[in-house]
Amino acid sequence: MKLKKKVAIVTGASRGIGGAIALSMARAGADLVVNYNQDADGARSVARKIEKMGRRVLVVQADVSCGEEVDQLVERALKAFHKIDILVNNAGIFIASPIEEVREEDWDRVMAVNLKSVFLCCQAVGKHMIKSKSGGAIINIASISAHLPEVNGGAYTPSKAAVIGLTKLLAIEWAKYNIRVNAISPGPVMTPLQRKAYSSQELLEARNRAIPVERHGKPEEIAAAAVFLASEDAGYITGEEMTIDGGSRISMFHLVHRLAMCT
Ligand code: NAD
Repeated sequence: MKLKKKVAIVTGASRGIGGAIALSMARAGADLVVNYNQDADGARSVARKIEKMGRRVLVVQADVSCGEEVDQLVERALKAFHKIDILVNNAGIFIASPIEEVREEDWDRVMAVNLKSVFLCCQAVGKHMIKSKSGGAIINIASISAHLPEVNGGAYTPSKAAVIGLTKLLAIEWAKYNIRVNAISPGPVMTPLQRKAYSSQELLEARNRAIPVERHGKPEEIAAAAVFLASEDAGYITGEEMTIDGGSRISMFHLVHRLAMCT
């Protein structure tokens, strides 16, 4: 119960990594604000599981790339729970395209959902944490793609690299307010977003072989790290990027396989 009596907002929590983070934080004792944009059924299903654990939960529809909607999300969270201790910026999208063919509107959309949303949510929640002198923990979900770009990754890699930069900036600016800001960079994790990347079982198996531990990560394995970073156990950790990728980032074998898959 490392997060007992804490209140957490998780963006894009209707499924995948965000859903797992919301459930793991609830299991660790937190009350939850489950944000979603379009997947109302998914969000309600996550919320029901949280309620069954005996935690309080608020489901809020909001497009986190829109400032007005983010303000409403934070207002509703404060009205329901009177405080926010933890913010997890998880919502993200991926639009595949060779860089020379990326459409301006796709670039803008990916940047808005993956990067601008992090700025908007951090600003709205951070203002509250600063004013209330309560401190807090913010966790931004980046990606290993910030270091190992995906071929045809479009705006995704730049957006995630910028999330890591923003995390470090916020960490030093807000350290004096006792707000810790960290990033998690997952490698491939089997979620609806990731599943779309594989057109065949062969491709999925080849991808698994390119990961030193020879499998995709599970959403729960990312969620466990988020619970740790949100807890007092991580009280001296800020501005850090935790890579959770089954060893991919340090493996030359992985890079060679990736190149082979792309030619
Ligand atoms: P997913 O597609 O399964 O879930 C994404 C969630 O974000 C969904 O709930 C979706 O409704 C929500 N969302 C999308 N746009 C939104 C918006 N504008 N406002 C509010 N919510 C919105 O994806 P996932 O695989 O669980 O990925 C979650 C995060 O982890 C993303 O930021 C992604 O970039 C990152 N990530 C995923 C992987 C992976 O392999 N799955 C690897 C590295 C990083």
